[in-house]
Amino acid sequence: MTTDFDAAAGGSTPAVFDVLNPATEQLVRTVELTSAEETDAAIARAHAAIARAHAAFGAWRAVAPGDRARLLRRFADTVEADLEHLARLEVTNSGHTIGNARWEAGNVRDVLDYYSATPERLIGRQIPVPGGLNVTFHEPLGVVGVIVPWNFPMPIAGWGFAPALAAGNTVVLKPAELTPLTALRLAELAREAGIPEDVFQVLPGKGGVVGQRFVDHPLVRKIVFTGSTEVGKRIMAGCAAQVKRVTLELGGKNANIVFADADLEKAAATAPYGVFDNAGQDCCARSLILVQQSVHERFMELLEPAVKGVVVGDPGAETTEMGPLISAAHHAKVSSYVTKDTPVAFRGSAPDGPGYWFAPTVVTPASLADPLATDEIFGPVVAVVPFTDEADAIRMANHTDYGLSGSIWTRDAGRAFRVARGVEAGNLSINSHSSVRYWTPFGGFKQSGLGRELGPDAPAAFTETKNVFLSTEE
Ligand code: NAP
Ligand code: MG
Repeated sequence: MTTDFDAAAGGSTPAVFDVLNPATEQLVRTVELTSAEETDAAIARAHAAIARAHAAFGAWRAVAPGDRARLLRRFADTVEADLEHLARLEVTNSGHTIGNARWEAGNVRDVLDYYSATPERLIGRQIPVPGGLNVTFHEPLGVVGVIVPWNFPMPIAGWGFAPALAAGNTVVLKPAELTPLTALRLAELAREAGIPEDVFQVLPGKGGVVGQRFVDHPLVRKIVFTGSTEVGKRIMAGCAAQVKRVTLELGGKNANIVFADADLEKAAATAPYGVFDNAGQDCCARSLILVQQSVHERFMELLEPAVKGVVVGDPGAETTEMGPLISAAHHAKVSSYVTKDTPVAFRGSAPDGPGYWFAPTVVTPASLADPLATDEIFGPVVAVVPFTDEADAIRMANHTDYGLSGSIWTRDAGRAFRVARGVEAGNLSINSHSSVRYWTPFGGFKQSGLGRELGPDAPAAFTETKNVFLSTEE
């Protein structure tokens, strides 16, 4: 089916999309896509719910704070009860390892639980003024459009919808075309929990149709976008036309900086998991390892067995550490970085046969001028480059338009914090590779994004501050 809107947009939109299992290339399910007209209707439905809420302290916003909190906790409970099913769905749709997929479903549960504490705590201020009473309110924005990429379909959806709903907004959510299954299931679980259908809607479809509609439609008051920097820039430009609120979580080329005084064994043993987790399809992947010159050779000796030890295979098996890439097209993109002329130091293993498999690969570009050292490859390819001293390490880590995350390995606490303050990135970890805890803020410097998600302040990004003055003059 092709609508007039699609014709106007210059594209033809198939009404269905075939979801393939990336580990086997077998058909999993066919999903009906939402046309532009249906999207408008869905947004209008969400808007109608907001309009009703505004008219009579309405449906969702007027739900007493404690009751809205309880609905979100019930939603967390329905996710918990369905956790294994959600995880298996993600293994099949996205090729995530079962261990990761369980963590991802658990993250949705935890984020809902965490923001279920928000409704009773959207506390305004009473500010002293002469001649009256001055108070502030945190008003919900209206309809929030959440646009999700294919690499972490469940957590990234939850980081948007949970605080948005908690703050009293209604949500329309577009999953990535490749990975709609868990988002569709989450919408069912929300309804099971008692959250009204129009309050949280999942609309599968193409970015250029459904996602673009979120950007263009004046009744969508905020866009939460996670994806590539390229598309993010277009979204931001589109939002500018309506001064629409926007949060962007974009790409990253993140440095893992290893100093000579570090616990080298631990740094080398963990480095593969800092980049190859989720087959490197992670905006926080530490895909550039900077190693101090004096320990470079020793580090490479330690890194080789660690990389070769990564268990790559059937993502449904409990012991698997890395699954396939998401699609044939993405496999071709990642493969284009590793040709016969590429300086490959060593590689791990991957299964043969069907599936979009790519073995963990360590490359040694001669300088930061090489795209291997600067491009977000978004696959299991890591570049190792030596540095001389602390200033050199900071300079090299900042030699990128991105600024999302990074790691610092050293036993010198002063140096650890000097470097952490010097690296222009939103999320740094010292002697570890962790980036995301739902109760701490997450987001990027420079072209890695705009705004922050998660943490205690996320609900504020889904409200407007309203100031009200009441005269007490006679
Ligand atoms: P993408 O191509 O930018 O797509 C992201 C989402 O935007 C998808 O749902 C996509 O729909 C949609 N979209 C595409 N064009 C659009 C348009 N013109 N208007 C509105 N929506 C549009 O990114 P991806 O390929 O899915 O994901 C990989 C990228 O995401 C990487 O660069 C990665 O670093 C980044 N990422 C960043 C974070 C972070 O938190 N910073 C987290 C995860 C991923 P379709 O599925 O139909 O294309
Ligand atoms: Mg894309």
